[in-house]
Amino acid sequence: MNLCDLAPEYIRAIHPYQPGKPISELAREMGMDEHSIIKLASNENPLGTSPLALEAMLQAMDKVALYPDGSGFELKAALSERYTVASNQIVLGNGSNDVLELAARVFLKPGASAVYSQHAFAVYPLVTQAMGASGIAVPARKYGHDLDAMLDAVTPETRMVFIANPNNPTGTFLVASALLRFLERVSSDVLVVLDEAYNEYLPSTMQADSIAWLKRFPNLLITRTFSKAYGMAGIRVGFGLAHPDVSGLMNRVRQPFNVNSIGLAGAVAALQDIEFVKRSYALNQSGMLQITTGLRQLGIEYIPSYGNFLSFRVNGGNAGAINESLLRQGVIVRPISIYEMPEHLRVTVGLESENQTFLKSLEIAIGESA
Ligand SMILES: *Cc1c(COP(=O)(O)O)cnc(C)c1O
Repeated sequence: MNLCDLAPEYIRAIHPYQPGKPISELAREMGMDEHSIIKLASNENPLGTSPLALEAMLQAMDKVALYPDGSGFELKAALSERYTVASNQIVLGNGSNDVLELAARVFLKPGASAVYSQHAFAVYPLVTQAMGASGIAVPARKYGHDLDAMLDAVTPETRMVFIANPNNPTGTFLVASALLRFLERVSSDVLVVLDEAYNEYLPSTMQADSIAWLKRFPNLLITRTFSKAYGMAGIRVGFGLAHPDVSGLMNRVRQPFNVNSIGLAGAVAALQDIEFVKRSYALNQSGMLQITTGLRQLGIEYIPSYGNFLSFRVNGGNAGAINESLLRQGVIVRPISIYEMPEHLRVTVGLESENQTFLKSLEIAIGESA
């Protein structure tokens, strides 16, 4: 008997997560200069990293011989002050992906289920399946979460519901009142994971006061990340906020040093860099307008997005050919057929010049495929 055949069937059935193509890989494949390539494929911050965070991380380099503070004391203190939560309500993660996985480890097992929406973030089915639990994908409504249908999909075995707001890759948004109504109606023995990875890209008037809801709903877990608006995707820091009992269980199953010392130092500094987040927000607003205007001029349908990315539908459904042409022109976007959206491509809002290059290359790609 082959050892790998003895691995649980639910592990062997996992389709690996497909990340955006790295610039270096495309450069190798096409024999291109890396500098001539633009990557708008992974919702990274086109402004780079918060300068305050960068400075703090460079200083932290001096101490990499030492283990990080496994409790993340300073970062938790900073988060606790910023969000008015107690330190024991915080779970730090190696990116918020880690936090999502920790929650699944705590609450899921074979026989249990998790509910999420069709077209929702790919990590939800992944972490569910990795625990041998079953995933219940609820058909989307206008590409967004259908919260009523998701509520109806909850069974006595359901232990988790994942909600991304805004959702990736569709960019759809749920208003606070709809989320509250869901929390009020869903059984208190189901953990509701509210993934707010793109929260900082919402106008402040649209940001739900979700953290205040933690007092009312001990079955709520909010996840946030330093990967997007803070520009720290490569250093991997995210966090979860929940009732102390929930975060306590999650902290038991995490690796003792799951967040590295450079990331911890960077995140503390990034939190203070309100100016950088403001600039990132403003650039995203203008870039989103630039891209949507350009797409409309090209006659391309898109799903209005509240994140730092946008999914657009390629006429005739030849997204594969358009993507290939974009790659040949040195523009990396994200095919999203694994999200059951084979006719769409997702583009991250970049710098003004990158958005312009993307739009020009897309026009050429469409011309080629016509
Ligand atoms: C990018 C993203 C995250 C963040 O992932 P990290 O592990 O924090 O880098 C979480 N949720 C969604 C929906 C995302 O798109």
